[in-house]
Amino acid sequence: MTIRDDVEKLVVRLAPRPVCDECVAHTLGLSMLHHVDQATRELAGSNGFERRKDTCSLCGETRPVTARN
Ligand SMILES: [Zn+2]
Repeated sequence: MTIRDDVEKLVVRLAPRPVCDECVAHTLGLSMLHHVDQATRELAGSNGFERRKDTCSLCGETRPVTARN
């Protein structure tokens, strides 16, 4: 298992609601935010995943989020 796999599962579970990197990190218990950022960037554009600036469904902040439609 990689962080990318964990991130993908979480985004799929929340779909189609968007989630920001910080909430992904918090939910998965990760401390190094830049790894989450790398994972969400890798996901974007594949299998219906997209990255955009939107309101996070968990924290309500407007930030770069990842969602699967
Ligand atoms: Zn959030």
